Amino acid sequence: MRSVLDFLKSFLLQELLAGMMVTGKALFARKVTVQYPEERTPQSPRFRGLHALRRYPNGEERCIACKLCEAVCPAVCIYIDSEERGDGTRRTTRYDIDLFKCIYCGFCEEACPTDAIVLTRHFEFHFEKRGDALIDKARLLELGERFEAQIAKDRESDAPYR
Ligand code: SF4
Ligand code: SF4
Repeated sequence: MRSVLDFLKSFLLQELLAGMMVTGKALFARKVTVQYPEERTPQSPRFRGLHALRRYPNGEERCIACKLCEAVCPAVCIYIDSEERGDGTRRTTRYDIDLFKCIYCGFCEEACPTDAIVLTRHFEFHFEKRGDALIDKARLLELGERFEAQIAKDRESDAPYR
C-alpha cells in the first residue's frame, strides 16, 4: 500500500508542487535584503568594533598600565610594556593589539578599571599590508580621539545588550 501511495505522490509531482508553493510565497513577501552600504541595520551602543584608547577631558591618558586587559584577553593578542613617569604615575610605553588574533569578545573593555580600552562602533576597516593588523598605542589613541563623542554617548546609554 505504501509503495502505491509513494508512486502516486511522485506521479502527481506533489513534492515538487509543495516546493514551488514555498518559492511562490517568498516571491511576493516583503524583501529583507539590506542594500549595504546605502542601507544599514541598527547598531547597538554596545557594538564591538575596532578598539580605541581613551583620554580624560584634560588630555591625560586613561590607561594606567595595570595590564588587566592583557591578562584577561583569551586570544593573547594585547602586548603592553610600561614604565614609571617623572610624576610617579605609571603609563604604557607600548600598547599593541594584534587584530588578526582578536576575537572581539570585549573582555578587555570589561576588565579595564579606567574605561581606557574600548571597542568602538567602527567596523569598516581593512588591512593592505601584513603589519597593518598590529595596531599600536599611537593609532589606538588617535581612534579614541576620533570616536570619543560617540563612545561617551554610548557610555551614558542604558540600552540593554542586544
Ligand atoms: S576583544 Fe577580546 S580578544 Fe580582542 S583584545 Fe579584547 S579581550 Fe582580547
Ligand atoms: S587599558 Fe585598562 S585594563 Fe588595560 S592596562 Fe590600561 S588601564 Fe589596565
